[in-house]
Parts: sequence; structure tokens; C-alpha cells
Amino acid sequence: MDKLKNYIYGEWIEGNSDGTKLYNSVTGEHVATADTSGLDFAQALDFGRTLGYKNLASKTFYDRGQMLKDIALYLLERKKKYYEISYKTGATHADSWVDIEGGFGTFFTYSGLAKRMLPNTPFWVDGDTQKLSANGTLLGTHILTPSEGISVQINAYNFPVWGMLEKLSTSLLSGVPSLVKPATPTSYLTHAVFQDIIESGILPEGALQLICGSAGNLLENMQSGDSVLFTGSASTGKKLKSMPSISENAVRFNMEADSLNCSILGLDAKPGTPEFDLFIKEVRNEMTTKSGQKCTAIRRIIVPENLMGDVQSALIKSLDQVKIGNPLSRETRMGALAGKDQYSEVLEKINILKSETELIYDGKQELVDADYENGAFMTPKLFLNDAPFSKNISHDVEAFGPVSTLMPYKDIEEAAALAKRGKGSLVGSIISHDEKFVAETAWKMATSHGRIFVLNRNNAKESTGHGSPLPTMMHGGPGRAGGGEEMGGLNGLHFFLQKTAIQGSPDVLTAITKIYQVGAEKKFADLHPFQKYFEDVEVGDSLETAGRTVTDADIVNFGNVSWDHFYAHTDETSLTGTIFDQKVAHGYFILSAAAGLFVSGKKGPVIANYGLENCNFFKPVYAGDTITVYLTAKEKVNKGVKGRNVPSGVVKWLVEVVNQREEVVCVATILTLVAKKSPFIKI
Ligand code: NDP
Repeated sequence: MDKLKNYIYGEWIEGNSDGTKLYNSVTGEHVATADTSGLDFAQALDFGRTLGYKNLASKTFYDRGQMLKDIALYLLERKKKYYEISYKTGATHADSWVDIEGGFGTFFTYSGLAKRMLPNTPFWVDGDTQKLSANGTLLGTHILTPSEGISVQINAYNFPVWGMLEKLSTSLLSGVPSLVKPATPTSYLTHAVFQDIIESGILPEGALQLICGSAGNLLENMQSGDSVLFTGSASTGKKLKSMPSISENAVRFNMEADSLNCSILGLDAKPGTPEFDLFIKEVRNEMTTKSGQKCTAIRRIIVPENLMGDVQSALIKSLDQVKIGNPLSRETRMGALAGKDQYSEVLEKINILKSETELIYDGKQELVDADYENGAFMTPKLFLNDAPFSKNISHDVEAFGPVSTLMPYKDIEEAAALAKRGKGSLVGSIISHDEKFVAETAWKMATSHGRIFVLNRNNAKESTGHGSPLPTMMHGGPGRAGGGEEMGGLNGLHFFLQKTAIQGSPDVLTAITKIYQVGAEKKFADLHPFQKYFEDVEVGDSLETAGRTVTDADIVNFGNVSWDHFYAHTDETSLTGTIFDQKVAHGYFILSAAAGLFVSGKKGPVIANYGLENCNFFKPVYAGDTITVYLTAKEKVNKGVKGRNVPSGVVKWLVEVVNQREEVVCVATILTLVAKKSPFIKI
């Protein structure tokens, strides 16, 4: 591999100067050269904003979710190649698994969320409809549309694959074209994965661009509607965020910066308890995984003062056993730092830490199949801060390597206070089997943490660990950690979407949202709506049923069939002081009777009852009351159940049950699985 080509305005282009040489962090050999000289960044951004936006924003959330899945499958088939490159960054097999397959996993998770929870439209209706006037002729709701601009994503060097894919999972799913700028030192791995994404041909033109090397004047060209997602040092992040092109154009800026994460050992977790052992293992893993180059790594080890000696000796013993060396060797558990520059930076921070705290452990491991001279290897280092309320250095200085500091606490107040001294962290963990201790500490430290991870004997087997951000959980943290939010399930999409309040009549809102709104015109026809195939059902298709008079026998029989003998259905004498005047019909009977009235008994395209989304009972129904049902097609969801291979979609129906006085007694949304006419329509 020599010069990495950049992929901008639909072409693979080499920079036109010498560029920056990138090195194998294990052997010191030259791996590739990154160079962006001569690229026209303004043109690249415009290319994304125009062609990329047009091609991506017009697709539906479903289609974009499917693209994520197709890409992840395509990359998965080629993963061996990425592992081979990843070892050159100093990552072990386990480190690489998190980076590479963790990245693919994020795409899979988001494609699943899209399929299950997002609409088959290019926009997304957010939240419920609000009634804005007394008679309901003015309604309001919110819609989310892809922000009209490009997303520039600046990543750190530690996770060259996951770092790119976790950001793209939300931007691409939202319909926003993206330009990826990996950190230069490990950009050759990002490049390899990116190249395959482009070669797969799954993404439309303009959806994705890549630059490897200096960002030059890229950010000076940002415009309103664009966004920047930054992961890296707080100092660079702050500098970029305050650029006039960002602040004056209201460019959305998400920052994820360094963080002095902590882990607290509970007062209960004495030597001999499972929690003590879990703590030692967790801290060792966090110090040595990725050689400590993890934004979520444990930097501050907060321990009950009477257990300091025990923790210190157990941790040192555990760290001594970590085999460091060439990631290609099966013995190796900890690889190298990303490069010599990173090594020097960590060393500099270690020296600063030494000014106030004591280095109590400096690993002396011999390397497996590698040498300290050529590779960027560093052994684990453990500091002791015996006065953590006066020696602030451990709460201020982050050495981005296998470095952490032990510090004592007396009680819950002190533990939480120390946790918060990090001034905003991505994650803090509590390792304890004492629920009271955990509950008290957790809420006290929550204000300065993006995530709190609690570990004990009950969840240890399935634990994903202190340091693992998960796609369905928010990744980010307040204050020093940058104040950003990434992923967090569907919440992660909001950053890329423009929210617009829509106000209008029920008919207008139905037309815009493609969801039937109460009060909008109902379309009655001779053909029963259950006799229509999925393609033919139209939002607003309605049916008014015949009436059914509820009898006392109905109430008694339903009680017997269901075994529901709640007093209000059975005992006329027990109703004094209740909201009922007579024995009331069971709510579930009303819903069942409604189904009896609205279903079409004849075999037809409706395959099955698929569920119930919400159901409210507003008024009691007594023997002698006559109920009538209005069934209206509310929303069509283009997803089917693959089980028997019958192409189908889900139709949501609004069920409104009224009594003889036209008073609404029950409203529900029921779901049916409806067959499609054409098996070729994608489900
Ligand atoms: P930097 O902040 O220097 O770089 C982060 C990213 O920003 C890189 O892609 C870098 O590109 C880019 N960048 C730097 N300057 C500019 C600019 N003027 N315009 C646009 N992009 C720019 O961090 P490092 O990668 O050097 O890491 C240093 C520290 O960051 C670590 O020691 C650690 O404290 C923290 N960090 C935090 C992480 C987290 O996840 N929170 C992860 C990794 C690091 P280039 O590489 O080309 O300079």
C-alpha cells in the first residue's frame, strides 16, 4: 500500500505533495502515505450537499436501513483483510474485533431499528398528534426530515473502523450525506474498509466521501444545514467548534473529547467477594485493551481507603501477567500504541502525573515477538494519589495509554465527589453487590456522566464491560467529555434531522403525515377494507358496523370464559362509592365484541391479527347499551413477517367504539398483517 487515494466528488484522487508517512506501530515499517494536498474541499462539500443529498434524502428510512445491512454483510465477508491491516495499528485480535466487527454490529443494529421502528417514508412523524383547538379542527404534530447539508465526521485514531461506522450508521440512516476524515495515523485501515463500501455499489452517488490526511481548510467551507461530528482531544474540538464558519452558520457540532472516566469499588466488595475479583479484572482490561487508548478507559480507580492495599497488590499481580507484544502472536494480550508520536504524548502526560502523584507500578514485561525500539510499545503504569481532594492532577490530565491512578475514598459522598472531579466523563462504573450503595452513588454522580455501568455477580457473565459503547445506548458525556451524544438508538438520528411542527386541519395532517388523524374524512366503500390487499388499502378507508346491544348474559358469559370475576362485572351490590352505576361490561369484552362487528369473516388478504398498540376505555358500557364501531385504516407499515414466506405488510387500524348516544367508549389501534398482491414488492 502506498499513497492513500481520497474519494471525493465521485473520484479517487491522490494528493499532489509528499504527504504524511504512516508507520506500522509494531515494526516501524512504512505502511502508507496520507495526502490531501490539492483537493478542492469546497467542491467536495457541495457535491455531497447537492447530488449526495438528493440521492440519499429521497430514500425512505426503510431503504436506508436495508443499505446499512447490505453494507455490513458485504464487509463481513471481507473481514479477514481488515484484521490483517488492523494488527499494523498495534491492535490485538480482541481489540480488532471490537473495532471491526463492533462497527459492523452498529450497522446491523441500526438496520434492525429502521425495520422495526421507522417508517417507509423519507420523513418521520415524531410523537403524538396534539389537539390545538376545542373542536379538534386544528391539530399539530412534528415531522423530522434529513437536514439539508453534509455531515463532516472527524474521527480519532484509536478506532479506525468503528469510529467511522458508528457515526455513519446514524447519518446515513437519517438520509444525510457524509464526508469521513479519519485521524491520519491509522487512516490506512479506515481507507481499506471505506474502499469496499464504495466498491459494493450499495450507496448512491455522493452519499459518502473520504479524505485521508490533513483537513486543510475543509471546515472553513461549512454552511448552514451542515453538521460536524468530532472525536478527539478537547483542545482540537474546542478550536474547531469556535471557528466562525461553524458558529456563524449555526452548523451543528457534536463533540466527543477526552474523559477521565472512573470506576468505583463498593464498600461491600472486600477481597474474597466476586465483586472484588470482577473489579480487578475490569480495571486490568480497561488499562490494557487497545493499550489503554480508549476514550472510555478507566483512568481513575476509586477504592475504599481500607481496601487500597488489597487492590494495589491484586491489580499489580494481574497487570504483571499481561503478555505484551506483537498482535500477530497468539500469546499477546496487549499490543502497541498507535505510533511513536502517540507514545511520546503519553510519556509527556506520565511525567506531568509524576509531578503530584506517585508511580507505584511500571510494568517490566518482555515483549512477545517484538521490540521496544521499533514498535510503539508501552507497559502498564499505575499511579497512586493518596490525597485525591487536594492533588488534582489525576482529575485533570489524561494519559491516553495504559495508565491509571488509584485513589482512596471514605464514604458514598466522597466516592461520588471524586467521580465528579473528572468534570464530565463518558462513563463511570460502580462495582458492588450492595444495591443501596449503588443507588445512592449512581444518582449522585449521574450529573457528570454520560453513562453509568454497574457490575456485580448477577450480570457479570453477560456483561459488555465498562468501556463498551453500545448502539442502543447513548455514547457521550457532559463537560470535559465534550457535551455530545452519539448513537443511543433512534435518539442518535435527531442530530441529523430537522424537526418541524406541522399545524393544520385533520385532513391536511392526514395528507402530510400519511397517518389518519381523528376528525379527517373517512372513505366508506362497499368493499370491506379487510378484502383489500396491502397495496390497495388507503389511509382513511373506513367501515361503519352494525350495532350490537350488550346484554347481562354477555357480561356473565365473558366473565366465565375469561375467568375475570372482578367485582365491578359481577357484584351489583358492591358499587357504592365506585365510578359505576351498574355492573359494567369488561373492557376486553367491548374490544372483542368490536372485533366481532368489524372483521370480515370471509377468507381474504388479511392474514392475521398482529397486535394492539394502544387501547383506552373512556365510558362504561352497561347491559342494554348498543355499541357501534368505526374501523379506519390509520397507517400502512411496509414490513412483513417472513415466516411462511407470504409477502405482507402491516396495516394499523383505528378502532373507535361508540354507544347509542354516539359517545366514544373505547379507542384502540389494532394491527393486522395484510397480504401483498405482488411478491416482488420488497418487504
Ligand atoms: P486530535 O484532537 O489532535 O485529533 C482528532 C481528530 O481531529 C483527527 O482526525 C485529526 O486529524 C483531526 N484534526 C486535528 N486538527 C484538525 C483541524 N484543524 N481541522 C480538522 N480536523 C482536525 O487528537 P489525537 O487524535 O491526536 O488524539 C489526541 C488526544 O485526543 C488523545 O491523547 C486523547 O486525549 C484524545 N482522544 C479522545 C478520544 C475519544 O474518543 N474521546 C479518542 C482518541 C483520542 P489528524 O490526525 O489528521 O491530525
